Amino acid sequence: MKLFQAALLITYLTFFNCDFSKDNPVQEIELESTSISKQYITVLGIAQDAGYPQINCEKPCCNEYYKGNETKKLVACLGLVDLNSKKKFLFDATPDIKEQVQALKDQHLDNNKVIDGIFLTHAHIGHYTGLINLGREALGGEKIPVYAMPRMKTFLENNGPWSQLVHLNNIDVKPLTTDSIIQLTQSLKITPILVPHRDEYSETVGFKISGNNKSALFIPDIDKWDNWERDIIEEVKKVDYAFLDASFFRDGELDRDMSKIPHPFTTQTTTLFEKESIAVKNKIFFIHFNHTNPTIRDNHPLKDSIQNLGFRFAKQGNIYEL
Ligand SMILES: [Zn+2]
Ligand SMILES: [Zn+2]
Ligand SMILES: [Zn+2]
Repeated sequence: MKLFQAALLITYLTFFNCDFSKDNPVQEIELESTSISKQYITVLGIAQDAGYPQINCEKPCCNEYYKGNETKKLVACLGLVDLNSKKKFLFDATPDIKEQVQALKDQHLDNNKVIDGIFLTHAHIGHYTGLINLGREALGGEKIPVYAMPRMKTFLENNGPWSQLVHLNNIDVKPLTTDSIIQLTQSLKITPILVPHRDEYSETVGFKISGNNKSALFIPDIDKWDNWERDIIEEVKKVDYAFLDASFFRDGELDRDMSKIPHPFTTQTTTLFEKESIAVKNKIFFIHFNHTNPTIRDNHPLKDSIQNLGFRFAKQGNIYEL
């Protein structure tokens, strides 16, 4: 029995919350999901809206990619899979939606659907413009459910090219209300949570994603933690995983006025959580990295230093059971 438990633990540690890179065969997920969980999140992208490499960047950050020393990073996105109900969902429709939908199909669930639903956080380019692939010039989708907050919904309905997706019924925009729970499948619940951000065209939300056993918080974009009426430390304590905005590592990272594009610096978040236990720090998975943030790299000494403090980094392909 002990041997069996040890084997189970090793399998668990190997396949869950650990590296699960693209080249892992599908059968491993199926094998594991029968013994552990039928619902999970998979990370489908980690970069800020503009991706990595970023257009016209000739600085060392993106040169490392062109020299072949770094892999391409897709725009921040979570896939949500429920193998019981045979459904799969996306959190945000990024410019990399083609690769992300394909990864869900090839590596997780092929249910003869492109996607069973897309939850949108806000109307910045990395988070909704992938919808363009669902229209007449591309997929020609049929009533693909797109979950959006009120301003986001109105924006899509009243501005081209998005309004055409609505009029042609390529997408079916379903309204979200902040703090109100959606029972997505028998085992999955979704709660949108308003967060402060530069809301030019829409409001911005993060999402709480709850399964039968565990829950996650996804906040890819937020202004400084201080501007939120909620306490991020308390919010992290309530969940098992927190995928948090790490657009910039520190102040001065860009040549422009960074107060105009406020985000919590990685260093500010780690300082805020300094006195918390390792178990709490372990829940945090940084995501949504700008190309200038050194921790977007596969390997970097600054990344090691943050991990040594107990924090973690979301990685494309990783799986988090719910
Ligand atoms: Zn963003
Ligand atoms: Zn760059
Ligand atoms: Zn944004």
